Amino acid sequence: MTAQPHRITVIPGDGVGPEVVRSAQRIIAAAGVAVDWEEAEAGAEVFKRGDTSGVPRDTRASIERTRVVLKGPLETPVGFGEKSANVTLRKLFETYANVRPARELPGVPTRYAGEGVDMIIVRENIEDLYAGIEHMQTQDVAQCLKIITRKGSEKIIRYAFELARSQGRAKVTCATKANIMKLTEGLFKRTFEELSAEYPEITAEHLIIDNVAHQMAKNPAQFDVVVTTNLNGDIISDLASGLVGGLGFAPSGNYGDDVAIFEAVHGSAPKYAGKDVINPTALILSSLMMLRHVGEAAAAATIEDAVLVTLEEGKAVTQDLARQTGGDIEHAASTTGFTDSIIANLGKRPATVPKRAGAGAPAVAATPRPRWSYGADVSASVAHATVGVDLFLESWVEAGEAGRALEALAGDALTLQMISSRGTMVYPETGLKPDSVGLLRARFVAREAAADVSDAEIAALVLRVGERFAWTHVEKLHVFAGEDGYTKAQGQ
Ligand code: NAP
Repeated sequence: MTAQPHRITVIPGDGVGPEVVRSAQRIIAAAGVAVDWEEAEAGAEVFKRGDTSGVPRDTRASIERTRVVLKGPLETPVGFGEKSANVTLRKLFETYANVRPARELPGVPTRYAGEGVDMIIVRENIEDLYAGIEHMQTQDVAQCLKIITRKGSEKIIRYAFELARSQGRAKVTCATKANIMKLTEGLFKRTFEELSAEYPEITAEHLIIDNVAHQMAKNPAQFDVVVTTNLNGDIISDLASGLVGGLGFAPSGNYGDDVAIFEAVHGSAPKYAGKDVINPTALILSSLMMLRHVGEAAAAATIEDAVLVTLEEGKAVTQDLARQTGGDIEHAASTTGFTDSIIANLGKRPATVPKRAGAGAPAVAATPRPRWSYGADVSASVAHATVGVDLFLESWVEAGEAGRALEALAGDALTLQMISSRGTMVYPETGLKPDSVGLLRARFVAREAAADVSDAEIAALVLRVGERFAWTHVEKLHVFAGEDGYTKAQGQ
C-alpha cells in the first residue's frame, strides 16, 4: 500500500466495458491499493456526439496528467471514415510496445493443459502496414506502404530484451518474414541480431513467422518472449491467446515512453452488455500489468494469486468457462459473483501454480526505458547515391510494346533496365505471361555505373514519360554505403 493514491485515468468504454472495469476496480480497492481514478470517456457515445476522433479533449488531457490508463473496450463505428478510437489512443500517446502474455491458467481447459505454456508476445504497435498509408494507384490497384524503421525496430527489440531480463526469462525469439521482405522485415531481423549481442545471458533466435505459427500449434511451451512487427504480432498474439483459453483470459498492455494503456484483448461483446455475465478475467489480468507498472508489484502478486485460486477452485465459474468445461451454464457465476470470489480469496496461494522467481507473467515487472542510437546525425553520415528511379505507370499496354516505347523515352543519362507487373519482371520479355492488372513499374537506372542521378534528370524523365503514359508514383533508387536500397523484381 502506498501513502499517496495513484492517479489513473479509467475509461469504462462500451458494451461490457463498464462491468469488467468495475470488477477490476473493486478488486484493486479490496487489495488495499489507493487509486484516485479520473473517469474519462471515449468510444461510441463520443462518436455519436459528432466527435470523429472518438477521444475527446478532456480525455486526452486526463491521460497527459496521469500517464496511466485502464481502459474498457471501445466500439469501432462501422460507418465510413471514422478511425478506431483504440488505434487513435495508441497513436496519440505513441504506445509503441503491445505486450500480450499468454499463460496456462488452472481450471481453464485447453488442448495444451499441463505443458506449461507461459509466453509473452511483444508486438511493435506503431509502424508496418498499420501506419495506414494507403493509396489507390489506379481505380483497381490498391497499395499499402509497409513502413519499418531502424528506430522503431530498435525500441521494440530493446523493450523485449529488457522485459526478458527483468523477468529472468531465458529466450527471445524474433519472428519475421525477412526471407521474402528482405528490406522491411530484414531491417527488423538485422536490428535484432545487432542488439542481441548486448544481452549475452539471453538466448536470441530468429524464426520465420509462418514457422512460428506452426511451432505454436505444435509445441507452444517452447516460446518465452517473442518480438515481432505489427501485423505478424497482431496475428500470433491472437493465436497465443487461443492456446490458453481465449478472449476471456487475454490481457494486454500498450507501453510508450510516457504513457501506458492497459486493456483486455476482447471487444465490447455488445450482446452481453448490462447482463452481469461476462468474464472479467482478461481486464483483471490487464490491471495487474498496470499495478506492476505503477510500482505495486506486491499487490499485483496478491491479486494474481487470488485469481488463480478462484480458477483453481472452480466454484465460481462464469458462463463462458462453464461452456468450455461442460459445466452448469444455468447456475454459472455472474461477473459480480466471480469478482466477489476473487476478493474473498485475497491472501490465499494457489496449490497448483508454482511461484515464479521473476516478477511473474502475465504482468510486466517494470516498464523498460529503451534508448536508441540511430539519430539524424548518424543517418546523414552514411554515403548514399541515387542510382535510378522506378516509375509506376497506369497502363494496359502489352509489356513488349511498353518496353520499346520507354526505351525510346529514357534519355541520355538513364536507361530502361526492366518493367515489372506486381513485382514480376515482364520486360525484357521472359516468355512468361503474367496476368496484366493495368499497372506497370518501369525501372530506369543511370547509363554510367556509379553515376549519381540528379533530380533534374528524374524530373525530365517523368515529364517525357508523362506525355505518353499516365504515371502514378515515382520512387528513387538509392544505394547506401554500397548496399542497394531496393529489391530486384522476381525473375530479374
Ligand atoms: P468481441 O467484443 O471481443 O466479442 C466476440 C465474442 O468473444 C463474444 O461474443 C464472446 O463470444 C467472446 N468474448 C468477448 N469478450 C469475452 C469475455 N470477456 N468473456 C468471455 N467471452 C468473451 O468482438 P466483436 O464482437 O468482434 O467486437 C465488438 C466491438 O468491440 C466492435 O465494435 C469492435 O470494433 C470492438 N473491439 C474493441 C476492442 C478494443 O477496445 N480493444 C477490441 C476488439 C474489438 P461468445 O459469443 O461465443 O460468447
